[in-house]
Amino acid sequence: MEKYMILAPQKENGGLFMQPVIQDNVAHIVYDEARAAQPLKTFLLPPLDEVVGKKVQAEKPWLFLGIKACGLAALPILDQAFGGDFTDPIYQKRREESFIVSSDCTQPWETCFCTLVGGQPYPVKGFDLNLSKVWDGFVIEVGSLRGKTLLEGHDEVLKEVVREEATALEKMRNETTKKVEEQNRDFKFEKRHREVVSGNWESEVWERHSETCVECGACNHACPTCHCYFLDDVTRKTFVKLRGWDSCMYSGYAVTAGGGTPRPRLYERFRNRYFCKFKYLDDNYGMYGCTGCGRCIEGCQGKIDMRQALKDLVKN
Ligand code: SF4
Ligand code: SF4
Repeated sequence: MEKYMILAPQKENGGLFMQPVIQDNVAHIVYDEARAAQPLKTFLLPPLDEVVGKKVQAEKPWLFLGIKACGLAALPILDQAFGGDFTDPIYQKRREESFIVSSDCTQPWETCFCTLVGGQPYPVKGFDLNLSKVWDGFVIEVGSLRGKTLLEGHDEVLKEVVREEATALEKMRNETTKKVEEQNRDFKFEKRHREVVSGNWESEVWERHSETCVECGACNHACPTCHCYFLDDVTRKTFVKLRGWDSCMYSGYAVTAGGGTPRPRLYERFRNRYFCKFKYLDDNYGMYGCTGCGRCIEGCQGKIDMRQALKDLVKN
């Protein structure tokens, strides 16, 4: 707490939300269970951020606790977008300074489907430390030099993992994986997502599945990999440029100065979102833009389920 501003999942109204950790609520941290409502981009790329005119941040760096594998899997996409060929110094500073303590998922939400997109409900990379709750303690895995350094000098609370604990951890991981696979049994298909989407440009599925969409943009805003933004120049006492989250589902997205738009119809914007996730990001970064976190399903006002849309495309 002296060094970092800690954020960790805590329960509220039946959900899990990343909340600042203070002395009073340390006992309420939920280390395991499932992913929190807010993706990491909420903090690394806030919904509205000053990008020009911003004073050098004096605040402490973040330490994120309880991040799940689907959250870690989204970071390489953001790293490519904001730290690849073109570097965003604000994102990069926050990212480099942030310390990530991930943890195993043990009670996946009904909407979770990491196993359908090549993931698994426990972290394997991308963390500084990983905590797996076993019995009344944690198995800690070190993922970086920074993680190793943080543990140094705390031998009084650390001991070697014994075989029984390692076996219990493996069993727990297998059980959770099985649970995610089981709840997604009906949505499984053998074809690659890329082929399913790109071979179906003309499909009626796009129109049918987007019928109930109200263009709220929740699917984009809740998604850990979606990162489109707009820039807004504001004149206050001094000039400020703001960056805010955009949504490719909005009719105003990509509209040009003359009022033209490449995707005037809703189903075209809906289709574009799937193409972005499973083709364009794969073309550009060699990764899918979906980690199976299920947030877009959970937050959709039109009750649209990406898993069902993809399955219907396969049936075509
Ligand atoms: S597309 Fe949906 S399920 Fe996939 S990462 Fe984004 S919010 Fe999660
Ligand atoms: S969350 Fe659902 S209703 Fe809202 S824009 Fe996305 S698809 Fe449409």
